[in-house]
Order: sequence, then C-alpha cells, then structure tokens
Amino acid sequence: MTTGQNLRDIDRQLLMDRSAPGRSAISMPASDVPEQSLPKDSLLRQEVPLPEVSQLEVIRYFSLLSQLNFSIDTNFYPLGSCTMKYNPKINDSMAALPGFANLHPNQPDEQTQGALQLMYELQEALGDVTGLPGVSLAPLAGAQGEYAGLLIARAFHAANSDNARTVALIPDSAHGTNPASAAMAGLEVVTVPSDASGNVDVDALRELADERTAVFMLTLPSTLGLFEPSILEVTQIIHDAGGLVYADGANLNALLGIARLGDLGFDICHSNLHKTFSTPHGGGGPGSGPVMVSEELSRFLPDPIVSKEGDAYSLTRPEHSIGKINGFHGSFGILVRAYTYIRALGGDGLKAVAENAIINANYLQSQLKDRFDLAVDRYCMHETVLSATQQKKKGVKGLDIAKRLLDYGIHAPTMYFPLIVEEALMVEPTETESKETLDRFIEVMRQIDDEIASDPDLVTSAPHTLPVTRLDEAAAARKPYLRWQSHE
Ligand SMILES: *Cc1c(COP(=O)(O)O)cnc(C)c1O
Repeated sequence: MTTGQNLRDIDRQLLMDRSAPGRSAISMPASDVPEQSLPKDSLLRQEVPLPEVSQLEVIRYFSLLSQLNFSIDTNFYPLGSCTMKYNPKINDSMAALPGFANLHPNQPDEQTQGALQLMYELQEALGDVTGLPGVSLAPLAGAQGEYAGLLIARAFHAANSDNARTVALIPDSAHGTNPASAAMAGLEVVTVPSDASGNVDVDALRELADERTAVFMLTLPSTLGLFEPSILEVTQIIHDAGGLVYADGANLNALLGIARLGDLGFDICHSNLHKTFSTPHGGGGPGSGPVMVSEELSRFLPDPIVSKEGDAYSLTRPEHSIGKINGFHGSFGILVRAYTYIRALGGDGLKAVAENAIINANYLQSQLKDRFDLAVDRYCMHETVLSATQQKKKGVKGLDIAKRLLDYGIHAPTMYFPLIVEEALMVEPTETESKETLDRFIEVMRQIDDEIASDPDLVTSAPHTLPVTRLDEAAAARKPYLRWQSHE
C-alpha cells in the first residue's frame, strides 16, 4: 500500500513547504503594455505567502493529491443507495463536444436545435423507462426532483379544490430527503411503519390513507433493497383514498427494462441521472433529478420542457406549470452524459444492467450471510443491507468495519442507513463490477470478520494505511480546510 506512504510524505511537504525563493513554474513574456503604478501602499499587502515552486513540483504535488481520493475509477465503491457504477468515458467526450459545451442557456431555440433534440429524446427515453410520459429535466438533484414532484401533487389537488389534502405519507425506511422535501413543499409528514419482512405495513397504510392524504412517497425498490410484493395493492389503497403515489426512483438500477413505475400505479417519480444513468457524482454535484409524471399531471410540470412541432424543438412552459425551479433548463452536461449512456446501451442493454445489478447484489448477499446478519433474509434487488449486530457483540461496530475496508482499498458501504436497521451496512455492488472484484470483497469481509474474532483492536483502530485515521466527519464537511495554513 503505497498510497498511505505517499500521503505521509505530502503531509510533511505541502506545496508551501516545497517552496524555494526565486523558483518558478512559468516564464513570463516581456510586457507589451505600459507599466502602471501600483495603488497606495495602504491597499497592498507587504507579504503574500505564495509558494515558489517549479512546474514539476506543482504537477507532482497535485497528481499525488488526486490519487489520494477514493473514486470509482480507482477503487471498488459499494456505497448503497448511491449506485457508484462505472461512468463510461464516452459520456464525457460527448458532453465536451464544443457544440454542447459552448452553448449559452440564453441562446434562442433556433440556434440550439441539436441540444433541444437531445433533451427531447432524453425526455422520451425516461418516459419510456418509467412508464410516466410527462418529463421535465429541470431538477438539479434527486431532492429537487422530489420537491418538484410534490409541488405537482399539491398543484393537482389545488386544481381540484381538494384543499384538505396536506399530508405526505412516508415509510419509516425512506431516504432522509423524502420527509425533508415534503416539509419544504408545505406538507405534513406522517410515517408509515414497515412490517417484519421489510415491506410497507399494508394494514397500517389502509388506516392512514384518508381524505387528508395528498401523496404517498415510496422508494422502489425500498431502501432495504427489496421489491414491494404488494405494490399494486399499495397504489390502489392510495388512489381509493384520493391521493397520488410518488416513487422515489433515485435508484432505478433494478427496474430498468423489467418493470415500469407507471404500470405499477405510480403517478409521479423522479430519477437520479447521476446514479442510475451513470454520470459522475459525489462531492456535492452537479446532479440531475428529472421528474416524470402521468399524462394527466403533465400540465403541472416545471418550466421548461422541450416540445416538438414538426421538425422544430422549443422550450415551452406547461399550461399550469408549478413554475421554474432553477434559473435555466437543468444540468445540461449531465443530460448529455445520461443520453449517451442510454443510447450506447439501448433497451436490451438497460435490461441487462438491471439483471446484472440484481445478480451481483444477490451473489454478495448469499456469500456473506453466514458471517453477517441480513436486515431481511430474502432475495434482494440491486443492493443488500447487512447488519453488524453479531460483530457488535464482540465490541466492533459497523463503522469500524467500514473503516477497516479502507485499508484493503475498498470504499466503505453506506452505514447506519436505513435508520430502521441496527448497525446497517448497505452494500450496492452495481452491474459494472466483475466477479473477481466481488470475490475479493467477499474475501476481505470474511477476513475482517476473522480479525474481529482474533484481534478486534486492529479493526476498531482502523484505518492504518491511510494518511489520516478517524476524522471528525461533520467538521470535515462543514469546516473544510481549503487553503494552505501555516503549521505555526
Ligand atoms: C440519492 C438519493 C436521493 C437524493 O438524491 P440527491 O441527488 O442526493 O438529492 C433520494 N432518494 C434516494 C433513495 C436516494 O438514493
């Protein structure tokens, strides 16, 4: 493991520490403009501590830094509910085509027909995949797609003067963005319990669904990685009560080409292009979370959608649009990547994605369940939720296992989510990993379990090979050091 070693070297040798007076990475050409006098002394800093380094030092420093990150291009990344699949490089090449990359969002439609055609065809493809034909690509993230979808639900009820519908029913296993989006959309959140097999508790749902129900938000497959066997009954219960059914389709990896949300009774959904449709994510963006709705709800979609008349494409505002949810038309570069991905795979390819994602997750689950408890012991979809309850009895928590995995060059699974599973380790291998990689993960997980039996301290004090050990992760996210700071 050289990575850790490298980082320790760098730690001692930040760019500033490599500085030597007079050294430079550039040679400036002779000035061809008249010299100007500097502003008053009082406006100038006397000492600006900038590193003086050669170009080679700069390149080495930043190249080494770039290798210190985990990324899907360097390491297995089984982060559940995040779908860290390989991002084909052709997607980036297409997004970088000058005709796309140099567009300005204020250009008139006549000048951007190619880009609008791409958006139109992406709308069509997402409508096909989900069975919900009304599509707006505007939302900039999954959570914004949820927010837009919930505003659509509210607009629908308002149009029917059905003003008592103010409740969003949300299962206890839901992603945190669901109740947050519902609250932002002005709805009151009521939690629906799960039953012992991890499904929606249908009897409880029947009790809760009434004339106050605006919408039921369901993640499918659930965040336990499970398909909802009584989904048709579930959507019917809500419709009978006069509510709408929302699908959180952030992760559609298990459904692509196999089942369509619209056919299952959903009225609204969003999907994360930056998960299911292979565009890079992590580090906070950019993302894209298009919102898809039934024909009936299309008139409420956010502004704009792309329409086609004859051969001409245009940005249009749906008749009863909830309005704009951001400045322009969505994360265009991400739309190009997702479009490329869909076109490259085609319908059969997308179906193969789902089949392989499901097989891979079930393979891991079947090979690890003798060592780790399962949240629910049944076939999973694209991800499996393990629980480190046995290991916790030996003094080692899920967090420790996740940290120890880093020593083996594997990114941590999602931890402690869903909230209803004790010591949850949510593993999503995705379809793009080889059997050899999955086997190595299984071997490493078994080895860590052996270590817990023989030398638990080794695991609880992990990671050992990385430049930094346990971090204050909340502070790292909220108060990051983004600039060189003197050690004094
Ligand atoms: C990732 C995810 C979201 C949120 O998507 P963002 O783009 O991060 O806003 C919502 N629901 C589920 C199930 C997710 O996995």
